[in-house]
Amino acid sequence: MADSKPFSVVIVGGGLVGSLQAIFCAKRGWKVDVYEARHDPRNDKTVSGRSINLALSVRGISALKAAGVEKHILENMIPMKGRLIHSKDGKLSSQPYGIFGECINSVDRMAMNKHLLDSAEMFPNVTLHFNHELLQCDLDSSHATFKKKDGTNLSVTASLVIGADGVHSRTRQQLMRKARIDFSQKYIDHAWVELTIPPTANGEYAMDAHHLHIWPRQTFMMIALPNLDKSFTVTLFMPQSKFDAIATEEDLKTFFRDTFPDSIPHMGEKLLVQEYFKNTKGSLAQIKCRPYHYQDKVVIIGDAAHAMVPFYGQGMNCGMEDCLVLEENLTTHLGPVGSASSRNPNPVHVSAALDAYSAQRNPDVEAMCDLAMYNYVEMRSSVTKAGYLFRKTVEGW
Ligand code: FAD
Repeated sequence: MADSKPFSVVIVGGGLVGSLQAIFCAKRGWKVDVYEARHDPRNDKTVSGRSINLALSVRGISALKAAGVEKHILENMIPMKGRLIHSKDGKLSSQPYGIFGECINSVDRMAMNKHLLDSAEMFPNVTLHFNHELLQCDLDSSHATFKKKDGTNLSVTASLVIGADGVHSRTRQQLMRKARIDFSQKYIDHAWVELTIPPTANGEYAMDAHHLHIWPRQTFMMIALPNLDKSFTVTLFMPQSKFDAIATEEDLKTFFRDTFPDSIPHMGEKLLVQEYFKNTKGSLAQIKCRPYHYQDKVVIIGDAAHAMVPFYGQGMNCGMEDCLVLEENLTTHLGPVGSASSRNPNPVHVSAALDAYSAQRNPDVEAMCDLAMYNYVEMRSSVTKAGYLFRKTVEGW
C-alpha cells in the first residue's frame, strides 16, 4: 500500500549539479530539501569583481533542456567556435571545433548556479537550506545530520539522500563506510591559478571573444575564456615545481615575459602580480568509484561520484548529464513524471533504478575521466603539432 507521507529527498550540496537535480526531483512531485554548507550566493554582497567561467557543452545543455531551465543560460553564454593558439612569437592560429559551426560555450559559474537555485525554489515542494553542512548520514535509515551556522545540529530523515557535495563529498565517505565501493583517487603534479584579462580602455574585449585561447608550452599551458563583461578569465596550469620557483614579483614578470609575452599588454603587469600572488593555487585530482548508490537509500552524483581533471571541460557537463541519466532510469523503473507510481514509488523500484543507474553511468564517466587526463597532453602540446585539420592562420588578430 502506498505510504501516505510524500516521497522525500534530501539533496546534499546546492552547487551546479545539486541545484539541477532538485528541479528534476521537484517535477516528480517529491518533497525536496537541499542542504548547502555555504551561505546563499544570491545574497552575496562581497562580490570580488572576478568572473569565474566554465565551458558548457551539448552534454550539459541537453540536461538543462530536459529540466526546462536552459533559456536564460543559452541567452547569456558566449559561443566559442574553436581554439585560438598563441605561439611564443605572437602568432595566432585558429582551430575550429567542427565544420558545421560546433561550439562550446563560456558561461558564468555563479550566474548559472544562482539561476538554477532560483528555478528550483520556484517549485512549492522545494526548500533550500543554506549554512547546513552534512556531518554524517546513516544509510539504512536515510537519516542525515547537518551542522548549522549557529553551531547546533539538525537531524532529518528522507526516503532518499542524493549526495551532490563535490569532490570532497562527505556523502561519498559515508557511503564507503557501508557499501562495497571500489574507490581510487589520483592527484596530478600540476596546479592552477586564475588571472584576469580586463576589458580594454574602450570597454572592448582585448582578444577575439569567440575562441577558447590557449598558450600551449609543451609541459604546461595557460587558457582564457571570455566573460559577458568583456573580460577574460585566464587559468594558468603548470607543475607545482614551477609555481614554487616563482617567489618574487620579478620572477613572475620574467617568467611571463619569456613564456606568454603577448598576454602581458592585455593583463597589465600590475594586475598580473596582484592576482598571481593573491589567488589560491588549486590542486587537481581525479576520483573514480563504483557503484554510486546503496540500496534505495543513497546515491551520489556530479564530482561527488567522479571528479575529473578540467582539461576536457566536462566535469560539470558530466555532472549535469548524471541528472539526466538518473532521470531516465527513474522513468524506466518508476514510471513517467506525473504518474502515481513515480510520485510515491515502491522502494524496490527505486532500488532497481539506482542499480541500473550505477551500472549504466560508471563506464561512461570513467571514460570521461581518462579522456580528461589525456586532453592535457593534447592542449598543452599536441595542438602545436603540424597537420591539425582545419588549421587556419590568423595573423594580425
Ligand atoms: P561543486 O560545484 O563542488 O558543488 C558541491 C556543493 O556542495 C558546493 O556548493 C559545496 O559547498 C557543497 N558541499 C560540500 N560539502 C558539503 C557538505 N558536507 N554539506 C553540504 N554541502 C556541501 N567543468 C566543465 O564542465 N567545464 C569546464 O570548463 C570546467 N572548468 C573547470 C576549471 C577548473 C579550474 C576546475 C577546477 C574545474 C572545472 N570544471 C569544469 C569542473 C567543474 O567545476 C565541476 O565538475 C563542477 O563544479 C561539479 O559540480 P558539483 O555540483 O558536482 O560540485
